[in-house]
Amino acid sequence: MICVSIGRGRHKQMLAEHAHLIEEGAELVELRLDYIRSALNLRRLIGDRPGPVVVSCRRHEDGGLWRGHEEARQILLRSAIATDVEYVDIEEDIASSIPRFGKTKRIISYHNFRQTPDNIEEIHDRMLQHDADILKIVTTANQPSDNLRMLQLIRRTDVPTVAFCMGDIGTPSRILCGIFGAPFTYATFHHERTLAPGQLSYTEMVKMYRYCELNEETEVFAVIADPVGHSLSPMLHNRTFVQQGMNRVYLPFRVPEEDLGQFLSDCPKMGIKGLSVTIPHKEAILDYVSWQERAVSEIGAGNTILFDPEKGSICYNTDYHAALASVLAEYEREAEDESSDGRVAKRDTGIEVLKEKTALILGAGGAAKAIAYALRHAGATVVITNRTEGRARALADSLKCVAVNWTLRHEVKADLIVNCTPIGMHPNLNESPMEKRHLRRGVMVFDTVYNPEQTLLIKQAREQDCRTITGIEMFVRQAAMQFQLFTGEDPPMDSMRETMRRSINPARFDDD
Ligand code: NAP
Repeated sequence: MICVSIGRGRHKQMLAEHAHLIEEGAELVELRLDYIRSALNLRRLIGDRPGPVVVSCRRHEDGGLWRGHEEARQILLRSAIATDVEYVDIEEDIASSIPRFGKTKRIISYHNFRQTPDNIEEIHDRMLQHDADILKIVTTANQPSDNLRMLQLIRRTDVPTVAFCMGDIGTPSRILCGIFGAPFTYATFHHERTLAPGQLSYTEMVKMYRYCELNEETEVFAVIADPVGHSLSPMLHNRTFVQQGMNRVYLPFRVPEEDLGQFLSDCPKMGIKGLSVTIPHKEAILDYVSWQERAVSEIGAGNTILFDPEKGSICYNTDYHAALASVLAEYEREAEDESSDGRVAKRDTGIEVLKEKTALILGAGGAAKAIAYALRHAGATVVITNRTEGRARALADSLKCVAVNWTLRHEVKADLIVNCTPIGMHPNLNESPMEKRHLRRGVMVFDTVYNPEQTLLIKQAREQDCRTITGIEMFVRQAAMQFQLFTGEDPPMDSMRETMRRSINPARFDDD
């Protein structure tokens, strides 16, 4: 169950949001009385309530806005109990002054906006002494391991416990607490009006993470990055899980670099079965995994981890496989197009096709490394160019290929040009790493940038009659391979492509 918190300055707004949430299917609503700015009329808010409520009134030190006297606040909480509200939230330190009465259930709460204290189990034990129906313990995550410590409280006793962390590092624990057995979690009415740091909206909880459908059987996957908020992987994987009717969920974890090792060892304890790994962890994870595929050790980076109870953590690089598959699929289409009128026999387009190609790689970062490695190992002649020449040379040396100065990139006679820089990425839509006049007819142009899909480079390449591969193609293929590794099932590639395109460019699909 999700408890949706409403905090508005006026009674009228509070009542309207409450009614709206009931229409949306909310089963429990928290009325934050401390937000009301005028003289509080409790009867007006709860007298004719459309569904069950938790009444709470937070002091400043607990993250609330209550401006009145403490005595008045406690009278308010007692009045709510006397009116038979379903739940009243009572802070641990005043629990003994507010006695049980009638049918109202007591939520005994503890909030910490600074940290997750070392003695959190002691605090939990102390709270158990206060005649609680439900315990609510909410702390701030300063490192990802705080999430696990809080989640473990839920299984410590038989008293139903809501325990999770605040802050962006703590956000996933707001979802995981349900799988660990918390009676409910908290969400906000609207994502732009969070009442606590790291809170998710009711819509995100229901639509993106399907909180109410999660249970002990749910398989958990995650993406780790720092920052992680921009990642499209939760949207893509969660929608694919839903479309396939799978009891699986995919969560975003912000993991600072210094916490990576501890986080990876906590994953199995949090029930996490697999990870997508992105910036800045793609190289650092190699220090912690038990086994890595050959491409990972040779590239020096991975982007996928599976946790196997016997083999430990296994690392793959689906960027490498996805880039190679995208290029080979486009050469296959080219051969089909050439033979479609029957005048040219269809060429064989296995991996052999790359042996006769020269590829120009723009960039020498993570994506460039994976793609240059893939093309080089498939037999292509690879030329690397990069803004910082030293990095281009280092990559070229490691792959035994050639580097050219960035200013000379247009001189290279390439069959395949791959942009592995962020040039052209939103919001720099008018930038391209290549001048249009140097895009020769028939050259294949691959832009790894996926937002937008139609970058200036891709648009100009099409105008010059080049064949093109977009960053969406690569992104979907790497995610599809992760889906296959995570689930053991064939990925629904077409619907994954459609999901990505809709999310990158919703305006194009508005009329659907
Ligand atoms: P990275 O490791 O940070 O490398 C960035 C590269 O771009 C470096 O070589 C950097 O050159 C170069 N660069 C950055 N800004 C530049 C500029 N203004 N002019 C010229 N060169 C510039 O990043 P990455 O992980 O490789 O990602 C690079 C791109 O690939 C991003 O756009 C990312 O979205 C895309 N990508 C796409 C997928 C996909 O699935 N479609 C997967 C991975 C990455 P210096 O060495 O001089 O700094």
